[in-house]
Amino acid sequence: MTSSWDSTPAGKAHRRRYAAHWKATNRKKYLAQKAAQNAVQRGRMVPCPCEACGKEPAVAHHDDYDKPLEVRWLCVLHHAQWHRMNGEGRNAHTPVVPRPKSSRFRGVTRAKKRFVATVKVNGVRHKTKGLTEIGAALAYDEMALRFFGDKAILNFPESRKRSA
Ligand SMILES: [Zn+2]
Ligand SMILES: [Zn+2]
Repeated sequence: MTSSWDSTPAGKAHRRRYAAHWKATNRKKYLAQKAAQNAVQRGRMVPCPCEACGKEPAVAHHDDYDKPLEVRWLCVLHHAQWHRMNGEGRNAHTPVVPRPKSSRFRGVTRAKKRFVATVKVNGVRHKTKGLTEIGAALAYDEMALRFFGDKAILNFPESRKRSA
């Protein structure tokens, strides 16, 4: 299916635009596929032969794009057949719910899968490394106490008495 036009700069640009457009309009599918790919790369998911005919390789298909790690393996043929019979997977176009950036705790923000505590003192940010959410909340309290003493507003005001 690769024609000579595809390999010209215009063709490549067109394909890039198409890929970007697909990603934007099929965000749910893109994220589900990426999650499945990552799981395979990290050995958390093992590719299987087509569940209908046993052929390999098979693609990771999602019945429900809200469950990125629940896939069925289907060869190209049976994958196409599944979609002919069932249409798109569930939740292909429901909104992507972004993970909240911040935490319910003061001075704590999400950094990938971990949390960091940040205290700004005279324009300088003091930051912890990645911690659990509670760990970061406690680390924030510790830093705030160190820098602001009695004026510190804490996540866990009880800890003030303990450290006093
Ligand atoms: Zn098959
Ligand atoms: Zn599919």
